Amino acid sequence: MASETGLRSTGDSWQEMNGQTQLVGVMGWPVAHSLSPVMHNTVLRALGLNWCYVPFAVRPDDIVAAVRGAVALGVRGFNVTVPHKQAVIAQMNVITPEAEAVGAVNTVAVERDGQGSPRLIGHNTDIAGFLDSLQAGGFDPTQGGRAVIVGAGGAARAVVYGLLRSGLDGVVVLNRTVDRAAKLVAELAPTAPKSVLLESGHLSESSLAREVQAARLLVNATTLGMWPKTTGSIWPAAVPFPAHLAVYDLVYNPLETHLLRQAREAGALPIDGLGMLARQGALALARWLDDAVDVDAVADQMRLVALGALARR
Ligand code: NAP
Repeated sequence: MASETGLRSTGDSWQEMNGQTQLVGVMGWPVAHSLSPVMHNTVLRALGLNWCYVPFAVRPDDIVAAVRGAVALGVRGFNVTVPHKQAVIAQMNVITPEAEAVGAVNTVAVERDGQGSPRLIGHNTDIAGFLDSLQAGGFDPTQGGRAVIVGAGGAARAVVYGLLRSGLDGVVVLNRTVDRAAKLVAELAPTAPKSVLLESGHLSESSLAREVQAARLLVNATTLGMWPKTTGSIWPAAVPFPAHLAVYDLVYNPLETHLLRQAREAGALPIDGLGMLARQGALALARWLDDAVDVDAVADQMRLVALGALARR
């Protein structure tokens, strides 16, 4: 049966695991909260593939052994999440230029030559996952203007790298720990097109309110607002919310964060972070399947699956 996404519905193509089952998965610590297994397994079944996606809880000290072990076991590829995105880089045979610039790999494809020798290719699908979902959410960066990114952790690096080549004229990174924002900017500035102004600053109520005045886009790349502390927001309650902004929140649990509610109530454009999660997952699957998937359809289905899983939590 065809679903709205163009993929077959689940249930009609599932095969029990057998001698031909191919393995993919995600390495993280912790990993039990990850939505990736249910997203990927639902799509793999819908595609009629005899593949299985497994959560691998890998302690920080075990990541080198885990990558070696996965390759030895014939795993076709795997996602990498916190805290391993930097650590796995040393084990890659090839790393894409954007993953190298961001300093983080979130997707590894294990390719084999004619003799079966493995080559590990490190990708970063968070960058395109963010940019594609930003545009799908209704914000067109090619019209130029400025963006304010709050946060300077791993996710912010992918966001800033993407925005620097998206058509915007300026990107400013504000962070509670200002040195971290300065470091991010110093490391990504050499990769930025000459026409784009990249700046950093300390996050405060006044710096945020000042910077967004001349911006079109505000991105939350901090953990503020994430379940269970859902009343948190980077935007101060006492300051009227600027209605001219598009507001992207990387936090997707809850789907409508306090920040996105503030944006919606002020008439600004809210964009939730579930689109990025779904899109990076679809792009990872495309890497493992040599691009033989409809990324839009897969991302749509992964988003629906993730929504359902969040609603059950
Ligand atoms: P991270 O490396 O730990 O960085 C956390 C960031 O949040 C830092 O900039 C930190 O500031 C800031 N922060 C934490 N508490 C704060 C507070 N009370 N006030 C102000 N700033 C605060 O985390 P990450 O991996 O970048 O992830 C950031 C968020 O993005 C998480 O919520 C994560 O779930 C989400 N994410 C979503 C997706 C998606 O697909 N939608 C993908 C990746 C990540 P300091 O530097 O001052 O500590």
